[in-house]
Amino acid sequence: MKKLLLPLLLISGTAFGQTKLRPEIDKKATAIEDKVIEWRRDIHQNPELGNNEIRTAKMVADHLRSLGIDVQEGVAVTGVVGILKGGKPGPVVALRADMDALPVTERVDLPFKSTVTATYNGQETGVMHACGHDTHVAILMGVAEVLAGMKNELQGTVKFLFQPAEEGIYQEGVTSWGAKQMVEEGVMKDVDAVFGLHIGSQMEVGKIGYRSGPALAGVDNLEITVHGTQAHGASPWSGVDPIVTSAQIISGLQTIISRNVNITAAPAIVTVGAIHGGIRHNIIPEKVEMIGTIRTFGDDQQNLVHKRVNEIATNIAESAGGKADVNITKLYPATVNDPELTELMGPTILAAAGEGNVLTNPLITGAEDFSFFQREKPGLFISLGGMKKGGDPTKTPSHHTPDFYIDEGGFVLGMRVLSYFVVDYMGMKK
Ligand SMILES: [Zn+2]
Ligand SMILES: [Zn+2]
Repeated sequence: MKKLLLPLLLISGTAFGQTKLRPEIDKKATAIEDKVIEWRRDIHQNPELGNNEIRTAKMVADHLRSLGIDVQEGVAVTGVVGILKGGKPGPVVALRADMDALPVTERVDLPFKSTVTATYNGQETGVMHACGHDTHVAILMGVAEVLAGMKNELQGTVKFLFQPAEEGIYQEGVTSWGAKQMVEEGVMKDVDAVFGLHIGSQMEVGKIGYRSGPALAGVDNLEITVHGTQAHGASPWSGVDPIVTSAQIISGLQTIISRNVNITAAPAIVTVGAIHGGIRHNIIPEKVEMIGTIRTFGDDQQNLVHKRVNEIATNIAESAGGKADVNITKLYPATVNDPELTELMGPTILAAAGEGNVLTNPLITGAEDFSFFQREKPGLFISLGGMKKGGDPTKTPSHHTPDFYIDEGGFVLGMRVLSYFVVDYMGMKK
């Protein structure tokens, strides 16, 4: 039934709806390209860390207000929500841009290079838009201008979500931030569908990439403390050695991926990133502490990996006569693109990018807190090319590095595809 219905919806959307607005979107987006680039450079030169996006948020709020959009500030600390009511009734479509920068010192020689510094985790550091969130903010400000300019034609409401702290803030005792906190504050309650994009420094300008279903990994922090019994290093039989036990646990954890996870469905990762224990060559210490990260692509897989980490660590420690405490903190769930929405929007992406410019993304083991919005309502998260045409992705600096660089030639496509999502979805769902 659904298969039969879909073409009808598409036809009605095309005939009565909103795809006729595409040429107008193209015109408006092209006309404001220079302005969007200027905003991006301004934000790039003035980057702000998570939950400190005060200047950026003000710039966004002022701009939205100047367009006649209703604005709420201070959402989830520094977030901004804009509501643009169309001239006709219809669904509520949310568009999201994250605003925060990273504790990275910029090394790129640009006239708008960041020289901002901050104290982060007790260390002096440069601050840089080393993940491209400056481009997301500028593009969405542009989309707001494009869509506000055709407000009367819109069959529904557009909700602009300018989100703080996507990269996490990791402060003692703080358990909610960014997208999670925005959801907790109720921003998704009236939303029918949510769209977002991420610029990619290693994908050519003009391209759009996406995939249906799981797209980016869920991420959890792992802490294991192995308790033994302290002893002289020359008489290990008189104690319980937590270092040898930890070595067995680390090896054991890798069997979760090779022997428990169905890797034909989706990969998973368990990484131990640090291990601390002991003080001297001839003392077997009392305990060893390990920290690491877990990456999974869905709730079932996540539950399986957590269960096995617990079993392996506690049982190996017990078999040695010691004890392991396992503490797993869930950070971001997997980013999962709603299959039905993704299928519905496939033609829209193709129309925006053009034949030959749409790629199927590989699974990405990085994480994105866009996933919190998608857990509330159907959502689609795409990648937008930000590498200069003809560039070599293997030689192009990756995200979160001091040499991270974005070619500005893809901003118009970014504005076009997000605007198309809005009008096409409204046309199909009115
Ligand atoms: Zn990032
Ligand atoms: Zn990012």
